[in-house]
Amino acid sequence: MLELRPSCEHCNTPLPADSTQALICSFECTFCAECVSKVLNNVCPNCGGGFAPRPIRPSRVDVGGNTLAANPMSTSVKHRPVDLRRQAKLVATIGTLAPEQR
Ligand SMILES: [Zn+2]
Ligand SMILES: [Zn+2]
Repeated sequence: MLELRPSCEHCNTPLPADSTQALICSFECTFCAECVSKVLNNVCPNCGGGFAPRPIRPSRVDVGGNTLAANPMSTSVKHRPVDLRRQAKLVATIGTLAPEQR
């Protein structure tokens, strides 16, 4: 099951389960849309992959008991601000490649 992390790993802005601003990489590294576009350039600092919108787990409808209440967000904050110099090097190296070509 997808781990819904509570905030952006770079700027720590809250990303509640119903946020449309949460983006994740394939390893569930979680960042806000602003950091992904302005800081990361769609390159995950942890794995080099691209990002996609985090799916929203329903909180108002109950289909098969698969609700947010039954499967809550993670409460473990992963706030590890990106090293901007290292990220700039990473983006210079692989940032011009589309995620499917990395
Ligand atoms: Zn952020
Ligand atoms: Zn990643």
